[in-house]
Amino acid sequence: MKDESRCRIRQLDEATIGRIAAGEVVERPASVVKELCENALDAGASVIDIRISSSEGRITGITVTDDGCGMNPEEARLAFFRHATSKIREIDDLPACTTLGFRGEALASIAAVSRVTLTTREKGTAVISGTRLVNTGGTMSGAEEAGCPAGTSITVEDLFYNTPARRKFQRSRAAEIARITGTVERLVITHPAIAFRLTVDGRERLAVPGGGSLYDAIIHLFGLDLAEGLVQVSADGEHVGVRGYLSVPDISRTNPYQIYLSVNSRPISSRLLISAVRDAYGTLLPGDRYPVAFLDFLIPGTDIDVNVHPAKREVRFSHEHDVLAEITALLKEALSSRVLIPGKDAGAAAQVAAGDTLTPVRYRPPDSGTTGVREPPVREQLLTGRQLRLTGSRLPLHGLQEHEPGRIPELRVIGQLGNLYILCSTPDDNLLLIDQHAAHERILYEQIGSWPAFRDCAQELIEPVVIRLSPREADLFSVALPLLKQEGFLIEPFGPQAWAIRTVPVTLGKTADPDTVREIVAELIAPGFPRGSDAAEHLRKIVACRGAVKAGAVLSPEQCDQLIRQLRTTENPYTCPHGRPTMVVFARKKLDELFRRT
Ligand code: ADP
Ligand code: MG
Repeated sequence: MKDESRCRIRQLDEATIGRIAAGEVVERPASVVKELCENALDAGASVIDIRISSSEGRITGITVTDDGCGMNPEEARLAFFRHATSKIREIDDLPACTTLGFRGEALASIAAVSRVTLTTREKGTAVISGTRLVNTGGTMSGAEEAGCPAGTSITVEDLFYNTPARRKFQRSRAAEIARITGTVERLVITHPAIAFRLTVDGRERLAVPGGGSLYDAIIHLFGLDLAEGLVQVSADGEHVGVRGYLSVPDISRTNPYQIYLSVNSRPISSRLLISAVRDAYGTLLPGDRYPVAFLDFLIPGTDIDVNVHPAKREVRFSHEHDVLAEITALLKEALSSRVLIPGKDAGAAAQVAAGDTLTPVRYRPPDSGTTGVREPPVREQLLTGRQLRLTGSRLPLHGLQEHEPGRIPELRVIGQLGNLYILCSTPDDNLLLIDQHAAHERILYEQIGSWPAFRDCAQELIEPVVIRLSPREADLFSVALPLLKQEGFLIEPFGPQAWAIRTVPVTLGKTADPDTVREIVAELIAPGFPRGSDAAEHLRKIVACRGAVKAGAVLSPEQCDQLIRQLRTTENPYTCPHGRPTMVVFARKKLDELFRRT
């Protein structure tokens, strides 16, 4: 006799299986947008219209309408079944499959956790009426004939109504919308020939006319300024071809968020590919910087496995090592063929790319010594002088009082090493090295923290800095605006997707250069920037870092002394705000040992 109660393993029912599986495909509203748009692209659409509606801080509806091939009534019904697809018949079709979808899971998964209304009419047939189907939580709840244009329109409502945990995990409306805009931006980049329009609660967020090239799409989304700083790549190796654009080394970001990669036009995320791209720059970029890149890799279908993850954002390659090395080599070549290394006269800026499209490659001298170009010493000295004066006497700080005198011994400055380390000797002849940037960062950071309000220490710029952002960046930027305002930035809209920054915290100086301001904004809107109370703290760290004496700046002996005097006044002189040491000691005893003098 079978004892039911003793058997702990049970087969789950279909509905439960559906909801569990859905979790892998439909993580959040943006994944719904991604899947629906991919289906529209697979259906051969030339115009894709995405409408988002929201109420009370939540996204309540997503509608994607396309002018693609549409479906007949039977196909429309089948489309909701799990593993029902028109794109492959058997696993052997996968290598040759060029559509974005092939698993037949998306619609079933979306329907399992929402209410989906599908309205569709097959293109190019004599039938004049279409089909409307409603599917709620995986169950077909309505089917009727409907008058509609050829193509497909899918509306998703009540998303996650039956998976409360997932619903709760949704971030704020603004954050979800930024993700959606980001998703659409990626699709625009991989499919520049298609017209996309995204509206949120009736307001247009993004609209590209289609019919263009990748370069047009980049200009449209990110502006001419960025586009002009890109180098075109079109190269083929033994295992992989590369098409797209790469930034010149003086355009870089603190994280890889603007590296857009796709394999055979499928957007993907891959750390390995990102490092392969980064490696092509070698020392052209400082170690912690990433380029901007829009690259599609062409790899034979037989050499890749796209079926790694349900959301299809990952791929595996055969000959992985060779493919990655080849990508780095091809990109390196593309970069070096464009005379990107500035000569002695960095002022001879405008370089015209040899041959083909004649894309002008602008090369402005960077603002720090980090890419190998130095500013003229006089200007540098003036800048450093200003930065040190700022933290010296002019600021409303708590007097130049040393905290617990004697913590840092008397120091005699010996000199500066590598335009970064201040070498000092202590009274007992120990050798002490100070990292000038880290030390000044600490000083600034503590002063900023002691100001009653950062805002009171703002100053007007001689010339406002105008920044232009992509639609997704603009979404994230609007979220950050109140914080920036609170911290002393006066920012006004300046045309579509552009803002004029009129005042900045005093640490950035009256002539803050656009790059520095853009950097701060880029860090603010980068993924992973903390929200809530940590945000202000984080912003202050960034401003301290940007306003601090640079690594690479030449310091006079007086300036070294000045810096050390100021460091003594800090509460925690030993580390910078990011926790890195500001000073390191080599004990005399240790040196003696090294010279075997003991
Ligand atoms: P997949 O895209 O992996 O095939 P989906 O669940 O996303 O799986 O879609 C199932 C099927 O429904 C597709 O294979 C396609 O035949 C049909 N379909 C879905 N969306 C559309 C659309 N916008 N236009 C035409 N057919 C569609
Ligand atoms: Mg699909």
